[in-house]
Formats: sequence, C-alpha cells, structure tokens
Amino acid sequence: MTSIVVLSGGVGGARFLRGLRAHLADAPGSAPGGPASALGLPDSSRDLAATAPDSATVTAVVNTGDDMWLSGVRIAPDLDSIMYTLAGENDEVRGWGRVGESERVSSELRAYGIGWPWFTLGDLDIGTHLARTALLRDGQTLTQATARITSRWPLGVRLLPVTDSEVETHVVVEPDDAAEGRSSMHFQEWWTRHRASLPARAFVQHGLESTTATPEVISAIVDADVILVAPSNPVVSIGTILGIPGVREAMAASAAPIVGVSPIIGGAVVRGMADACLSAIGVPTAADAVARHYGARADGGLLDGWLIDEVDASLAPGIEESGIPTRVAPLWMTDVARSARLAGTALDFVRELRARA
Ligand code: GDP
Ligand code: CA
Repeated sequence: MTSIVVLSGGVGGARFLRGLRAHLADAPGSAPGGPASALGLPDSSRDLAATAPDSATVTAVVNTGDDMWLSGVRIAPDLDSIMYTLAGENDEVRGWGRVGESERVSSELRAYGIGWPWFTLGDLDIGTHLARTALLRDGQTLTQATARITSRWPLGVRLLPVTDSEVETHVVVEPDDAAEGRSSMHFQEWWTRHRASLPARAFVQHGLESTTATPEVISAIVDADVILVAPSNPVVSIGTILGIPGVREAMAASAAPIVGVSPIIGGAVVRGMADACLSAIGVPTAADAVARHYGARADGGLLDGWLIDEVDASLAPGIEESGIPTRVAPLWMTDVARSARLAGTALDFVRELRARA
C-alpha cells in the first residue's frame, strides 16, 4: 500500500486531487470494479464515485488559513472546495461553491445586517458550515468534524486540516481610504472584497504562536511514501501549511520524495490572483522563481523535484542548476483526463527520482 500525501489549497489543489484519484483508479494494479461499477454508474461518473484503489491511499493536508467565523458559522473554504470537487458537487462554471446553489439565507442575513454584504454564502454551503459548527460546538476537533462531514461522499481522499487551531491569514496593507484606515484585514476580505487590489505588505498568520500541526498530519507526512505539493497558491495555501509548526520538520524527517507542481504557467497564475501574493513576498510570478522560493531539499529546502509546463521548458536547466531536478509536462488541468495525466507524470517522476537516489 503506497501512501501519497498531497499538500493542498482550495481550487488548484482540488483539481489536482481529482486528477490523482482518477489516475489511481485507472492505473494498472488498481482494484477492478470499484465503487463506480458497483453503483452501476456510467463511465462519465466514474470520477465521482471512484475511490483510491487498494494499492494507494491519498491524504490531503489542507490549508486552513482562509478559515473564519462569519454569521455565527465556521467557514473552511479550502476544505470545502476540495470536498465539493471530489464529490462532484462543485459549480464548474462559477469555479467555486456548490452546483445548483441558491442564496435565500444570505439575503435574509443581509436584511438583518449580519455578516459581510459582499460575501455571499450559498444555502447549500451554509448547510455544510452549520454541520461543521455543530460538530465543533459539540467539542470535536476540526479534524474529527472534517472526517464526519466528508464521510457523506465517497471522496477517495482523506482530508486533514493542517491544524485544529484557528490560525487565520491576515493581510498587512496601507492604512489608506481604500482600506478604511485599517492596517490589516482577514485574507478573505482582501481577496474577495478587494480582489487582491490593495497592495499587500505582508501576510501574517494570526494565532500561530499557540498552534502545531495535528498528530494526524505529522504522522501522515512522516509515514508517507510520496509527498506531492499541489499547484496551489505558494504563499497563502502552501506557505501557510509550511508555516504551521511541525510541518517542515515532518517533511524533513520523511523518507518520501517531495515533488511539486508549478502553479505558474508561462509567467501567469493560470486562475485567480496569486501573483498579488507572490509580489508581496518578493517572488516573481515565474515557475523557476517559485521553485527557488521552495528551495532544493538537498540544501534544506522543500523539493526533490519540480514539474513545469512545456511553455516554461527553457527554465528547466536553470532550476536544475539550483539543485532541483525538473521535469517538463503539460500542467493545464482543464479537465479530469488532463489532471490525471499530470498526476501520473508526477508519480512517474517520483519513481525516477527514487531510482536515481
Ligand atoms: P485556492 O485556495 O482556491 O486559491 O486554490 P489553491 O491555492 O489550491 O490554488 C490556486 C492556484 O492554483 C492558482 O493561483 C493557480 O496558480 C493554480 N492553478 C489553478 N489552475 C491550475 C491549472 O490548471 N494548472 C496549474 N499548474 N495550476 C493551476
Ligand atoms: Ca484558499
């Protein structure tokens, strides 16, 4: 049984995990007649019901820095993006949230002046937040609450919040009129309300002093056979995960090769506004710059290997010179099949790195 751990943010991580699951379900040696055929689902639904085959387990270590309390409920955007995507419940057109969503509860909250008027919570989504909040109020940890909530669907991936504590990413900004005189705000306000347009001076993890990664996360990482870094936001998704005390130490202690997938293709962030986060920490929006930011494992950094897109092939020699073995492959996750091929390439690369070692 191969244990694969994936460090993951929300949307980019979710697409990669869905591809990894599809790759494993199709890989030779995987259990035939998985849940999709057992349920009599058509081929197009295979992805929905697929579980990782007996030969591999997939654990996602998920960013919780975007989490927050709003209107009385605990919101965990990245955990939910992954859960909805793997459950086939995500809105593919909008790119986030539940499919077939309505917003009746949000309009009532707005009428009461509760919550953020620019942050709409869908009705179905509020159901998830209420369920999570109820479990937390009953004394469960976020890890336990997540296990319970995700058990609703055959996700085929275990979702582990990186920490059970409330560590939230805040953005340090210029205290001008646009920021209403405030010098910092929750990441979610900066991202959703201001569309990352207020120049960010820094990202700060509130609550970091009193936290560690969960024991589940530490042992998943230490015991992993393969660790993949999803093409997620290097600053506020992967950076936040790596900033939780215990994670870097566990990564260093793990015997597993660590291979990352570039979230940057051709000098652009593909989807979203992650370039605003990178520039705040002085990292250019480029596949080689992000690789160097993560660093070569041999030099005390993160990576044993790095995947870049074909349009960035010319960057490969330079990244290799920095001590990070690099492979070129198509990195666009435009559909499940392409995402699955990308995941397969990452696993091939891991095998190759093992053979070299
Ligand atoms: P978030 O938490 O919802 O912002 O999602 P993540 O942090 O997991 O991922 C966001 C990042 O994923 C974006 O900044 C993109 O750089 C990257 N991304 C999105 N789609 C793709 C894709 O198709 N291919 C690659 N390589 N990266 C992608
Ligand atoms: Ca996120």
